[in-house]
Amino acid sequence: MVHFVGAGPGAPDLITQRGAALLQGADCIIYAGSLVNPALLGLAKPGCVLYNSAEMTLEQVLDVMRQTEAAGKTTVRLHTGDPCLYGAIREQMDALDAAGISYDDTPGVSSFCGAAAALNAEYTLPTVSQTVIITRMEGRTPVPEKEKLASLASHGATMVIFLSIGLIDKVQEALLQGAYTSATPAAVVYKASWPEQKIVRCTVGTLAESTRRNGITKTALIVVGDFLGTRYERSKLYDPAFTTAFRKGADR
Ligand code: SAH
Repeated sequence: MVHFVGAGPGAPDLITQRGAALLQGADCIIYAGSLVNPALLGLAKPGCVLYNSAEMTLEQVLDVMRQTEAAGKTTVRLHTGDPCLYGAIREQMDALDAAGISYDDTPGVSSFCGAAAALNAEYTLPTVSQTVIITRMEGRTPVPEKEKLASLASHGATMVIFLSIGLIDKVQEALLQGAYTSATPAAVVYKASWPEQKIVRCTVGTLAESTRRNGITKTALIVVGDFLGTRYERSKLYDPAFTTAFRKGADR
C-alpha cells in the first residue's frame, strides 16, 4: 500500500495526526526534499528507508514504490502542504493503478493556509472578495491560455500565487494589467510556519522591489487583494439581526 501524505507547510506539528501515524508506520518514505521539513523524518521507525524525491525522476519514484510493494511493505509518499496542489500526484496514481498497487491520500495544511495564518488574514471578507484564485505565473511549466495571470487578475478577487517568486517582475506587470492598481495591498510570505518565516507587506506597485529588497528568491507565496486592506463588512452569520437555522435573529 502506498500512502500519499500532506506534510503541511513546514512546522512539524502542522502535519495531521493521521499523516504522522502513517509516517511512524512506514517501511519506506519518499519525501519531497526541496520543501518538506526534515524534522518530520524523525517520526520514521528504525529501519525505515528514506528517499529524497528531489533527486529522483517519476520512474525512479515508481520503481521504489513497486519494490516496496513487492516486499509486502508500506510506502509513504510525503508531499509538502497538501498533495492536491502542484503535487504531481496524478501521474503517480495513474501509474499505481496500472500496476495494480492500492493507495490512499491524507490531506495536509496547504501553504496557502499557512500563509493566511502567518498574516492573521481572512481571504474571504464580506463585500471584499468571496473567491480565492490559486494559480501560478507561467514559466517553464506552461499555463492554459484562458488562465493567464493577467486574465485571472481581471476579477480583482483574492489571489494566491504559487511557484512564481522568481518571476516577480512579470507577476507585478500581469497583476497591473488586471483589476488591481499599484495601491492594492499585497504580501509575500516566505517559508510560512518555518522558524525562518518572513512576511513582507507591500502593494502591487511595490511587489517586485519589496521582494528583491528582502532577498526572497524561493519558497514563497504572493498574496494579493483588498482582503489585506481595512475595509470590509461584518458577517451576516454573526449579525444579531440575522436568523439562521441555529439562532433566531433579534429583529424577528
Ligand atoms: N502542495 C504544496 C505546494 C507545492 S508547490 C502546498 O499545498 O502548499 C511549491 C510552492 O508552494 C513553492 O514554490 C511556494 O510557492 C509554495 N510553498 C510551499 N511551502 C511554502 C511555505 N511554507 N511558505 C510559503 N510558500 C510555500
